[in-house]
Amino acid sequence: MMRLPFFEYHAPRTVEETATILAGAGPGAMLLAGGTDLLPNMKRRHQVPATLIGLRSVNELKKIENTRGLTLGAGLTLTEVVREPRVRDAYTGLWQAAVQVATPHLRNTGTLGGIPPAVGSVPVEPVGEAERSLKPGKPQMVPRLVPKQSPAAPD
Ligand SMILES: Cc1cc2nc3c(=O)[nH]c(=O)nc-3n(C[C@H](O)[C@H](O)[C@H](O)COP(=O)(O)OP(=O)(O)OC[C@H]3O[C@@H](n4cnc5c(N)ncnc54)[C@H](O)[C@@H]3O)c2cc1C
Repeated sequence: MMRLPFFEYHAPRTVEETATILAGAGPGAMLLAGGTDLLPNMKRRHQVPATLIGLRSVNELKKIENTRGLTLGAGLTLTEVVREPRVRDAYTGLWQAAVQVATPHLRNTGTLGGIPPAVGSVPVEPVGEAERSLKPGKPQMVPRLVPKQSPAAPD
């Protein structure tokens, strides 16, 4: 059986607290959302963060709001995205991509924010001014998304 390596764990409740812990923990820290990608990688020792910062209790990352487009929190699971009528009706490309990721079990756990930008299958891009990265080079923290080459959804 492959075991996880030892790590320090933090469970912040706000984005601000998360940013403070991340800034203080140094380069060995990583954010943990659903863990469907990161935890197997840790078991295989492909990634060995000294510190994990769990995002599950950060409710701010679970918001869905009508804005210029639609603001989807990075902490939403793919199942929550798929079950959102505003996504299904106005962001068909996103809905179709999200519903095809892996299996229902993985979609229940895996989040929008955890999808690696280079390989993720969700065809959305961040709206510029909403960028709110917790870590340099980690733009997937951005909670506001618009579908590629599509007009903004009506409110
Ligand atoms: C069998 C299997 C099939 C899969 N199929 C697909 C697929 O078809 N398409 C696809 O896109 N993916 C697929 N994946 C990959 C993965 O499950 C999904 O991308 C999932 O959405 C990852 O989300 P998570 O919350 O589990 O991320 P985690 O594993 O928690 O994190 C993944 C990475 O994202 C970072 N991260 C997490 N949340 C944030 C955040 N809010 N801000 C910044 N960084 C963050 C973590 O630090 C880590 O580097 C598959 C995985 C498995 C095991």
